[in-house]
Amino acid sequence: MLYTSTRDHSIRVTAAQAITQGISEEGGLFVPCGMPSFSLNKIVSMADMPYTQRAKTVLREFLTDFSEEELDYCVNGAYRTDKFSSPATAPTVQVTENMNVLELWHGPTCAFKDMALQILPYLMAVSAKKTADGKTIVILVATSGDTGKAALEGFKDVENTKILVFYPVDGVSNMQKLQMVTQEGENVSVCAVNGNFDDAQSAVKSIFTDSAVKATLADKNMMFSSANSINWGRLVPQIVYYFSAYCDLITDGRISAGDEINVVVPTGNFGNILAAYYAKKMGLPIKKLICASNANNVLTDFLKTGKYNKNRSFYTTSSPSMDILISSNLERLLYHLSGENDRLVSKLMSDLSEKGEYTVSSAIKDKIHELFDAGYTPESDVDKTIKKYFEKYGYLLDTHTAVAVNVYENYVERTGDNIPTVVDSTASPYKFPKSVLCAVSDFCGGSDEFATAQKLSEITNTEIPKPLLSLKDKAVRFTNVCSKDNMSDMVFSLLKL
Ligand SMILES: *Cc1c(COP(=O)(O)O)cnc(C)c1O
Repeated sequence: MLYTSTRDHSIRVTAAQAITQGISEEGGLFVPCGMPSFSLNKIVSMADMPYTQRAKTVLREFLTDFSEEELDYCVNGAYRTDKFSSPATAPTVQVTENMNVLELWHGPTCAFKDMALQILPYLMAVSAKKTADGKTIVILVATSGDTGKAALEGFKDVENTKILVFYPVDGVSNMQKLQMVTQEGENVSVCAVNGNFDDAQSAVKSIFTDSAVKATLADKNMMFSSANSINWGRLVPQIVYYFSAYCDLITDGRISAGDEINVVVPTGNFGNILAAYYAKKMGLPIKKLICASNANNVLTDFLKTGKYNKNRSFYTTSSPSMDILISSNLERLLYHLSGENDRLVSKLMSDLSEKGEYTVSSAIKDKIHELFDAGYTPESDVDKTIKKYFEKYGYLLDTHTAVAVNVYENYVERTGDNIPTVVDSTASPYKFPKSVLCAVSDFCGGSDEFATAQKLSEITNTEIPKPLLSLKDKAVRFTNVCSKDNMSDMVFSLLKL
């Protein structure tokens, strides 16, 4: 399997090159040149496997330059039972008759980002051995809250790597901030940015493609790579859990092999739902991919109308990991749905950066409507949804998952389509204890995040995840702040160049 770029179809690289480089030289994203196809028999055969082997079965098809031993090293290192608090790794929990919640947050940082970022350092280490000839890899991350911590935890003290994380100063929850500023490890740095996630992400992307900066690094025998979902190594492990959830539904007798399901994804950068799209392309019987946004609904507007317009107000919401106006991975979808038209994608992306908007043809729009449904949840409905599911079904949703559940309810009401459905649950409710406590009780807790979490635990009779509880006693290590315009200076200073 070789990979090309969404903006230059003449490029061909191996999986190892795509993973170490992170982003293509001209700014495009790496995409596979073909798509493996899984028969129903093959999917059913995965039902008997533990998560690690399900992962290996999918990864093998995309990482064809990895040996069986290398794949074993990656999946066994990543999905260890001492790192994931559920023996199933990502359990599928039935909540209502047809709604199943895929809990993707049992990893060390309590968000779904662990599903990919626990394995990415292994994929990167193997890839670097094949391609990076001894260079130190500098992982540069822009985070809307969860990626930063998950990447820090995945890459801490990994040989031949350094990791620098930038988070928007007012754009993350207290718990998310605490997780990052207390991060341990010799090769890690964290910096707050005065700006929002889009500012941080755009600055990171331009640092990546700045040839002067790259030359300075090369002089020191270093190279950049990315742990954001622009990196193919982030996406491919996310395809796995859609197959895994489908297998779980078969095993539990909730569907028969071959039955179609719907998938609902709380979406920000479009990585998670794009992985579901790839799973569908590979033959997983998914009927609709249902994309859920919060009040920042640029993406769901696009999926409905074919016009992407980021010139609009930006809202800071209770689901901060979805507070995004530029969804990077949409570029990959546009590439596939336009018949792999790299020139069109380049044009749309330059329209986006110059004018803040673009419109796709009606042919592309029709394809989108065949595959996707979309909706958004206003802030006031997030609380109501958390409260309803706790009171009626005894199930505690985090704010991001609540956005998805509300969109799903509206979808069923509008279409009558209530086939078995998987809703991705992307974070533990304890990452956002204040918002969740507010939703299920009459008080919202004070400024002490841990007292709030404790209260939530008492009221709901659920447990605070250990990794969050342990933050209480950790020292703050990082207090740097920079502006979006001097992020590259900060990179040099943190790398001591
Ligand atoms: C990152 C994140 C999302 C959005 O996922 P994308 O792949 O960026 O669309 C949703 N919920 C949570 C909790 C997240 O951390």
